[in-house]
Amino acid sequence: MAGLLKTEAVVLRSMRYGEADRILHVYTPHRGRVSAIAKGVRRARSRFGGRLEPFFRLRIELHEGRGELLTVTGAQTVDGHARLRADARALDAAARACDAVGRLFETSEPHPGVFNLLCRKLALLDEAPARATRASALAFRLKLLVAAGLAPQLGACAACGEGEHLVGFSGAAGGVVCSACEAGAFPLGEPAHEFMSLALGAPLSEAPQAEERVLGQVERAVAETLEHHAHVRLMPATSRSPPRAPLGENQPQALPQSAV
Ligand SMILES: [Zn+2]
Repeated sequence: MAGLLKTEAVVLRSMRYGEADRILHVYTPHRGRVSAIAKGVRRARSRFGGRLEPFFRLRIELHEGRGELLTVTGAQTVDGHARLRADARALDAAARACDAVGRLFETSEPHPGVFNLLCRKLALLDEAPARATRASALAFRLKLLVAAGLAPQLGACAACGEGEHLVGFSGAAGGVVCSACEAGAFPLGEPAHEFMSLALGAPLSEAPQAEERVLGQVERAVAETLEHHAHVRLMPATSRSPPRAPLGENQPQALPQSAV
């Protein structure tokens, strides 16, 4: 079905291709993740300028031929997130957010809620790059779980329905579990349980805070849920050490191998 697709999109990844082209992964509200080629974009006089870079929110025009790869024919900036780009931690957080969306929602299935969530995440990082914390990264991931239909069960034991003595988390069961059902689960303390409930109930801008030990449990709960039910492994929610220099804006995929 050849034609022109006009849509909003966030650039998730941008990879050099050939002499002057780029292959982009963009996330759209109604077509999910789309791969497109931008021809001649690396030439100095390209009409696209620098706006086909990761984390740009665009109004984009794509020509759709028979192949899977669409061709970029036009692009206007909705938001370039300039402040985010000037901050190494915010850039790193944006790269991880885009990577998570690209991996979890890699098909053309429409998820406008995911598009809005990603736009919100990038806007918040741009507004205040200091928001690039592990807690806010995990709040974002928890909301992605919900969008993927994998909301962790937090109100009662995910295995037997018991409402008390919830001591662990089981990715296989898909939520917290009680002391009788904890085989195959890992210990999840009350603060981590509370963090997850608060993060899921609050807007992204009001993500709760918690200490590292608690966040470690939350991250494991998210990771095990994804591994069991989506067969997806995400990179850690934040880098282990502060990045020394901004990650290349052109290559958010160039994260350290250990982070993949
Ligand atoms: Zn139970």
